[in-house]
Amino acid sequence: MYQTFIGLEVHIHLLTKTKVFCGCRSAFGDEPNTNICPVCMGYPGVMPALNIEAMRMGCLVARALNCRIPEKTWFERKQYFYPDMPKNYQISQFASPLGQEGYVEIEGGGIKKKVRIRECHLEEDAGKMIHTGTVSLLDYNRAGVSLLEIVTEPDMESGEEAELFVQQLRRAVRYLGVCDGNMEEGSLRADANVSLNTPGKGLGKKVEIKNLNSSRFIKLGLNYEIKRQTAALDAGKTIIQETRLWNENRDETASMRTKENAQDYRYFPEPDLPVFAPDAAFLQSVDDRLVELPLPRSKRLKKEYELNDEQADIICEEKAMADYYESAVKEACKLGLERKDAAARIANRLLSDVKHILSRDKIDLACIGGIKLTPARIAELTILVANGKTSNKNVKQILEAVFSEDKDPAVIVKERGLEQINDPAIIAAAVKNVWDAEAETVKAAMAAIESGNQKKIKSLSAYLVGKAIAETGGRASPEIAGQQVNELLRVK
Ligand code: ADP
Ligand code: ZN
Ligand code: MG
Repeated sequence: MYQTFIGLEVHIHLLTKTKVFCGCRSAFGDEPNTNICPVCMGYPGVMPALNIEAMRMGCLVARALNCRIPEKTWFERKQYFYPDMPKNYQISQFASPLGQEGYVEIEGGGIKKKVRIRECHLEEDAGKMIHTGTVSLLDYNRAGVSLLEIVTEPDMESGEEAELFVQQLRRAVRYLGVCDGNMEEGSLRADANVSLNTPGKGLGKKVEIKNLNSSRFIKLGLNYEIKRQTAALDAGKTIIQETRLWNENRDETASMRTKENAQDYRYFPEPDLPVFAPDAAFLQSVDDRLVELPLPRSKRLKKEYELNDEQADIICEEKAMADYYESAVKEACKLGLERKDAAARIANRLLSDVKHILSRDKIDLACIGGIKLTPARIAELTILVANGKTSNKNVKQILEAVFSEDKDPAVIVKERGLEQINDPAIIAAAVKNVWDAEAETVKAAMAAIESGNQKKIKSLSAYLVGKAIAETGGRASPEIAGQQVNELLRVK
């Protein structure tokens, strides 16, 4: 067996409205080459200017990853020639990145470990090349878009751990509101580095799998590499340091280029941008945007509301959903429900009927904050059911009406005559009518009791209860009607 080392380099697009060093719009999917200017096109004599919002978002991620923000951070030019980078260099960070030496805890699916973060640095993205037939097309809209690169230490050991790291990071940056986490559109992409070695011998020769745009591919690509390298080492071969690509159609990696020596990017400090020394006010503005992150929040919700793993996972997938849930529980408590009861009832309602409506109507869970069924309304509905003011079987209808009519559940219950009848006298009258009208069934039920035919007792009494509820227009409390029917059958 070998020891496995995996380190990730994750790039995230920051949600700044404009690019990192110019005022061009930063957006995905616009008409090609419409969001460009002399600065991001690298015309001679132009001056970049730092987008402070990009720096703030970068530092926010750094803080969330427990990184140290240095007293001074600055930019370097990373030289390389490629048509997607019109300046022939990329403005990036090298010697003093904005976040240094952090860590995150990853946890889930039987995995629990600490992954050290080497650094995170701010840089500009390159343009997009589209190769078609004999020509290559260039779209520079993406050139200069704010990009944050997060580099881990080689602390992970399996494709599953790397997948979990990326999923957790994706949730975290979405919670922080700095990245939409859309891997298909390339807002979050990762390069995965992996090496194997005899235990105790330190790092092996690393292979890099580039541009993985789904967390599943990260897992599959890495596990494929681990197998491939294991077989090679077993056969006495040496691993060559190279860059490989994941082929999603063949479920394997293939060599792209060998990388015996690190490319010389001839980094030097960017002369057109001043050193950035974050002052107290800036650091405060970063901390003001810190939020409770998904993993600790999910742990807290499990404990505080006694949710199971699955419930906590779904509720904490989106910050908006977790916020919604907590505020609904609070509202229900205000209306008099006991907290533990409210927590369980609202979780059940949210994850069944409500989630069903949202997915049917294609409402993203991230948008749950804006739906007609406000936290106060779901709390009100929960109370109505808990207090027997309406029956559980009306819930679907009430929910649909809240969405379509934008009214409070109590109003809908009243308007549609969905109030449950809990008055024993009214229900007793209904049962009495059934007794008269269904004399045969009552007789049969008595006989069944006499002979101890449990199955028959059950079905006949359910029939009588159903009839009694129907007598009241479907509004009698099923529990009370049931009690009365049973009493009558036993007593007589
Ligand atoms: P490079 O100079 O090729 O970019 P770095 O040392 O900067 O390599 O590391 C890039 C990423 O690769 C980091 O996430 C790091 O943890 C990981 N890494 C570096 N060396 C190894 C190795 N031998 N095995 C596995 N991962 C590695
Ligand atoms: Zn521009
Ligand atoms: Mg590197």
